[in-house]
Amino acid sequence: MTDLEREIIAEISANGPMGIDRFMALALGHPRHGYYMTRDPFGMAGDFVTAPEISQIFGELLGLMVAMSWQALGEPSEVALVELGPGRGTLMADALRAAKALPGFFSCVDVHLVEMSPVLQRAQAEKLKDSGKHPQWHASVDTLPDDRPLLILANEFFDAIPIRQFQRHQGQWRERLVGIGVEGALALGLDRNVAEGLTLDGPEGAVFETSPISLDIMRRLAERLKHLGGLLLAIDYGHPQFAFGETLQAVRKHKFAPVLANPGEADITAHVDFSSLAIAARRGGAVAHPILTQATLLERLGIDHRAGILKRKAEDPGEIDRAVERLTGRDKAGMGQLFKVLAVTSADLGPPAGFETPDPHLGA
Ligand code: SAH
Repeated sequence: MTDLEREIIAEISANGPMGIDRFMALALGHPRHGYYMTRDPFGMAGDFVTAPEISQIFGELLGLMVAMSWQALGEPSEVALVELGPGRGTLMADALRAAKALPGFFSCVDVHLVEMSPVLQRAQAEKLKDSGKHPQWHASVDTLPDDRPLLILANEFFDAIPIRQFQRHQGQWRERLVGIGVEGALALGLDRNVAEGLTLDGPEGAVFETSPISLDIMRRLAERLKHLGGLLLAIDYGHPQFAFGETLQAVRKHKFAPVLANPGEADITAHVDFSSLAIAARRGGAVAHPILTQATLLERLGIDHRAGILKRKAEDPGEIDRAVERLTGRDKAGMGQLFKVLAVTSADLGPPAGFETPDPHLGA
């Protein structure tokens, strides 16, 4: 049993079963035992690999994309380049290097990183020490600058934000809660009380997942974009249209693990419901553009062209081909098709680069 599991069991014994949101917040963010608070989980030796860790091209293309949005904003003399959940800082390092190709843009940028983990803040500082920028760190989006346009990147951030689950049971919704099972281990069960205020209809047994914290973050950022101008790009594994179903999962050493086992030792995520995020963005007064698959965005931004240039200088050009294939693969398990990109902008900005036309690989 992990130390965190003991703490969670003590909390449940004292207060009764806890929401999955509370469980997820503790498993990922507990100050001493939370998964992200204690380690760098990325890469082959860690638990999972993210797009910026697969190829430098990912961050480079996003860096050029935000630079183009800066131009579309009329080249403001001060702009905040923000990343939510920057991990090792790789995406930001690659984006800044690419952005140097537009010196006018680079000199107007200050960098803001929203990161809860002290371990990862240190990794980000190390990665960015020669970037030419001195990042400012924020524990949440609340303290981001409110006097200049924002260009916000978020790769695999929203999937780590706590969710709640509700299940249809005898014609009513009840929240799924984490309690203590017969053998004394953590177990999922249904709240004794019916969930209030959920008017949704659904078939018996259906699971409704929602991330109120994600929706709140998105709405508040959209309000800022509306007033300050700018862009937010959210990239995540998720679904373009709302659907019932449970997607909470744990991953450890590149394999799925039971969600409630060993809290603090496994990454826990849920698929991102992009349609709800888009609605939250519109509620905040910003424009949510039709989403694209990761493959379509990277192809439209010129991943093949950039790969061609890198291959000419590479010792092992095949490695670059394999990385591009991983980022843009459209087979059933392919990142390029499974990962989606939501662009949210202020109304004055129009669709950002790549978002001008719908994605032919997504249903209407
Ligand atoms: N974007 C990176 C890392 C993704 S992992 C990449 O693509 O490699 C999720 C990141 O979000 C980690 O840096 C984690 O510490 C951070 N994070 C998760 N929940 C957070 C929260 N509530 N507030 C701030 N940062 C959070």
